Amino acid sequence: MANKTKISFRTQCIHTGNGIDKETGAIRRPLTMANSYRLPEDSSTLDWSDPNQLVYTRNTSANQTYLQEKLAALEGGEDCVVLSTGVAALAGVFFTFLDKDSHIICSNVSYVAVYRLLNEYFPDKYGVETTLIDTGNLDDIKKALRPNTKIIHIETPGNPTTRISDIAEIGKIAQSIGALLTVDSTFASPFLQKPLELGADLIIHSLTKYINGHGDAMGGAVIGRKELIDQIKRQAMVNLGGAISPFNAWLIMRGVVTLPLRMKQHSESAMKVAQFLEGHPSVDFVAYPGLESHPQHEIAKKQMSMYSGVLSFGLKGDVDTHNQFVNSLELIVPAVSIGHDESLIVYTGPNDERNHFYPDEFKNGHLRFSIGLEEADDIIADLKQALERCGL
Ligand SMILES: *Cc1c(COP(=O)(O)O)cnc(C)c1O
Repeated sequence: MANKTKISFRTQCIHTGNGIDKETGAIRRPLTMANSYRLPEDSSTLDWSDPNQLVYTRNTSANQTYLQEKLAALEGGEDCVVLSTGVAALAGVFFTFLDKDSHIICSNVSYVAVYRLLNEYFPDKYGVETTLIDTGNLDDIKKALRPNTKIIHIETPGNPTTRISDIAEIGKIAQSIGALLTVDSTFASPFLQKPLELGADLIIHSLTKYINGHGDAMGGAVIGRKELIDQIKRQAMVNLGGAISPFNAWLIMRGVVTLPLRMKQHSESAMKVAQFLEGHPSVDFVAYPGLESHPQHEIAKKQMSMYSGVLSFGLKGDVDTHNQFVNSLELIVPAVSIGHDESLIVYTGPNDERNHFYPDEFKNGHLRFSIGLEEADDIIADLKQALERCGL
């Protein structure tokens, strides 16, 4: 295969991690659905928890290693660990690098499981000190630093507010006190943003979203220096048990091949949809990093090449209006998740447990909208007819 360091991102999406199957000559590496691998003749000295040796599929599997090779290359990282879900990857990072004497700073608006892990479980069960703040504000981060701060965790763009945090500037702050900067880059995917180049230590992805891209397999990944990834593999994969199924790794490996094409289309369509919504008199607000009205648009422009396919918005109306709107949609599907081929929309009402952390315009509830790969004009036509049906 061509020298990995010389080929472009698009070419890596296709070739890296693939190879000729030695047994059959097939030009694709096969799906290996096996729990166990033949032991060496002398197993007396085997390291039974070695996460880089094929022994048992909870410790690593063939298809998992191919996907790890591809994702490490796409993010420009030394190594990668692939796990069963994005949350397994996030929890794995926190479990590995936090202990009872440590402190973590995290964005107060983040994926909901991260919020629960850091607001509740880690502090209550293990005494980890946590500070949840607006990581869009660098001064607030500096003020929150403590001598025992081990991690600054950001999600950018953030779910569901699309808040952008400045990776390069926060990287400098983390480095100044020897803390790790961990970045959940799920909304951007490796195609739109390169956190390691900007100073992050670890990147986390929910592979369930854009990287797989087809809404039919779950997975998570962490990418960074080998020395850090090895610790996560040993602690969080082998011993917490969040291994990915080889079949899901195989599906995600196939999905990622078209990542650049999909991300361009998602981003272009989302921009059109965001502009349509922003210009509609019954739309109360639109949060999309590509719009000049977005509070961190300039930072997004600096660190992303396009703005991805997720936006949040609100209508001028109450809970019933929002529900009626969602139920009037004919093409766009009311379902959770993002980054699928089909457009997905979720209405979250004002009783969201994190409502007090949201920007004011989100406080009456919001619609999170993942713009799919359908023709943008069809998506806009569906929004229009649903708005009209609601008398908006
Ligand atoms: C979906 C999501 C996750 C969780 O990923 P799962 O694969 O569902 O566990 C984490 N972070 C972000 C930003 C997400 O959108």
